[in-house]
Amino acid sequence: MPLAAGENSQNLSTQSTAKAPLLGASLAELTAWVEASGQPAYRGRQLYQWIYQKGARHLREITVFPKQWREELADFPIGRSTIHHRSVAPDETIKYLLKLADNQIIETVGIPTADRLTVCVSSQVGCPMACDFCATGKGGFIRNLEKHEIIDQVLTVQEDFKRRVSHIVFMGMGEPLLNADNVIAAIKSLNQDVGIGQRSITLSTVGIPNRIRRLAEHQLQVTLAVSLHASNQKLRQKLIPSAEGYTLENLLAECREYVKLTKRRLTFEYVLLAGLNDLPEHAEELAKHLRGFQSHVNLIPYNPIQEVDYQRPNPKSIQAFVSALKQRGIAVSVRYSRGLEADAACGQLRANHI
Ligand code: SAH
Repeated sequence: MPLAAGENSQNLSTQSTAKAPLLGASLAELTAWVEASGQPAYRGRQLYQWIYQKGARHLREITVFPKQWREELADFPIGRSTIHHRSVAPDETIKYLLKLADNQIIETVGIPTADRLTVCVSSQVGCPMACDFCATGKGGFIRNLEKHEIIDQVLTVQEDFKRRVSHIVFMGMGEPLLNADNVIAAIKSLNQDVGIGQRSITLSTVGIPNRIRRLAEHQLQVTLAVSLHASNQKLRQKLIPSAEGYTLENLLAECREYVKLTKRRLTFEYVLLAGLNDLPEHAEELAKHLRGFQSHVNLIPYNPIQEVDYQRPNPKSIQAFVSALKQRGIAVSVRYSRGLEADAACGQLRANHI
């Protein structure tokens, strides 16, 4: 099948000028690519297996390919990163700093349990949203990640743990809906080529006007998590500068449309900051907004970052917040972040190493 110039295909040029990395290409695209290089079609399947199953980092490693062709391809990129730093927490969570082809550094986390291996992936280098409690937000924005750079994070964790990845959360650095085309393309490839169920993938967003609605149109089976963090507009604007241009009312209206269009329930994330958004009246206000909404609230006790002095609430107030929501019929859970010992909150590891 020839490569179409549509948005879902990539330009896998065999010329040395525009070398789009091969990672993220489908079996059909890889087959077309090997054929364009004068090789038989079955080499496409070999290439596909070496990239997605054997984790080949360079074409010269693919020993089933003819030696001369391998030499010709020696510097053609597959698109893999290198592990720049690796930090293992006592609970076996591993935080990685991965170095990209242009030497930018991103953070990725592997979170194992008995029956799951979850990868927390980044979607951007840095983040422009500047949420006040977020370490990544304090560092500013550098660039979007390419599709292959997102897929690579999953393969890297899978190889390092020597275990299949079962779940993916887009909760690393960056705002995925500001890089929606690459994130959606990566999700499709992670599903089709790496074999991860879409229902085991969660995309977390702080909300960008009209983007949640547009995401719904793609009819993916992923879980959408929306970072709410406040029970009213005034408080939300204080914590999330971008909320100024996007009222809570409009955000929730888009979320309702998402549920209607996709028939999938969504998660609201709510970082608990002591004395700020964790009081009984906040729980009450939140419950009013979410009454009858097909959703689930995920409370995240704040992980301290160096730049600001918010506090994590004590267990008693966390419990009180949970009870206040439950009493009002809201489904709720608390997420205790793993791997804190590996270097405080997410984003902090990179901040301390660049
Ligand atoms: N840009 C996306 C992904 C960000 S990270 C989003 O905003 O949803 C995933 C979650 O971690 C978000 O809900 C984010 O608000 C939260 N988070 C960021 N910094 C945190 C911190 N210091 N403590 C607890 N949660 C934090």
